[in-house]
Amino acid sequence: MALHDPLSIRTGWHEHFHLARTLLNETEAEILRSRSMSNLNTSVLQTEKRCIFCGNKPNDKNREHVIPRWLISLTGDPKREWHLGFRMDRPDKPERRYAADQYVFPACESCNSRYSALEDRAKSHVEKLLNDQLLTAQEWDDLMDWFDKVRIGLWIGNMTLNKDWHIPNPNFYIDQRIAKRDRCLLVYQHPDPENIGLNFIGTMDPVFYYLPSVFMLVTNSLIFINVSYEFMLSEQMGFPYPRKTGFGEGEHARQKYVEDFAATYNACAPFLRFNLFPPKMAAYQAMLLEAGFDDEVYASLVANDYIKSKHLPGEPIKSQICTLYDGKPQFLQPDEVLGSANGQAPAYVELLKHCVRLLEFRHSLLDHLLGAQLGDRNLFKTLKRYNNEAIRKVQQ
Ligand SMILES: [Zn+2]
Repeated sequence: MALHDPLSIRTGWHEHFHLARTLLNETEAEILRSRSMSNLNTSVLQTEKRCIFCGNKPNDKNREHVIPRWLISLTGDPKREWHLGFRMDRPDKPERRYAADQYVFPACESCNSRYSALEDRAKSHVEKLLNDQLLTAQEWDDLMDWFDKVRIGLWIGNMTLNKDWHIPNPNFYIDQRIAKRDRCLLVYQHPDPENIGLNFIGTMDPVFYYLPSVFMLVTNSLIFINVSYEFMLSEQMGFPYPRKTGFGEGEHARQKYVEDFAATYNACAPFLRFNLFPPKMAAYQAMLLEAGFDDEVYASLVANDYIKSKHLPGEPIKSQICTLYDGKPQFLQPDEVLGSANGQAPAYVELLKHCVRLLEFRHSLLDHLLGAQLGDRNLFKTLKRYNNEAIRKVQQ
């Protein structure tokens, strides 16, 4: 039983810190050149302790296990060593190593306890999936809340850990991003059904720091890919989406705008713009835009019967969980069981191939952001170079 599980699969791209350092220097230079983003020069995470949940100064010395103890125990010895990359400012130093159960970040005690019930439910859901049991739509909804928590927790946590890198100022923490954006969770069988271990992939590099939208979690015999960003699924799931997005001008240069909303009221696969490998099971969920409810056009689109019928009862912005059976969309009632994707035969795909596909997905997201003129062009181009290099390293 292999208990050595580095946080990132040993593809070598973290080891190539000299290239990373060069690209990060370029990134920093780009940001300094761009006056509109000059407030990103120092991240608040580099100067003070912030609660990973609420973003305030933690009111006590509580610590949060971003990767919960139950998951660490489920996947090996809780005292095993994790390898957490190099210090970019001191590449001559050995790789950072932590005992898995010491991978903790500041949090308020009250914030921490607010999430303990979700942790308990997530544990039960993950164990069921590992035991080949199916989950209801309600349980998938829960599990995706938990994946939002882990993804954003890893984002804030890993940026806190890598203080020596250039990191952005986070404009949200876990509380502000759970169940707020369209999201999906894809599940694959690990090529080795006896695999014991935990990897999280794509969460500790500059691309993730500027784009914490996609990551992969390997948990024993299952591989999870979690993706979430604004309007990722809305158009294809028949929900309102903006036909125009961009940044304002002058004093509003840093404010993103979305306008000219439309909806097809028809769910049409594929949901993602980019083809990941066909999953064994997948859950997709669109989120309504809370800020849009005051907008006349948006509100009238939301009032349509299609949207009403697909809206999750008792939830202000969540759609019902949707899945694809034989490639056909099906919305599920909360107590309905989400089955396997049927026709899309669950192929055993090598972990490295999943990694490459994940990095290519990030590439397409950066292209999309560049095409839609969302954000700093030079920064995104530099991140694309970094990502390309990562793809090259993985494929070596
Ligand atoms: Zn807090």
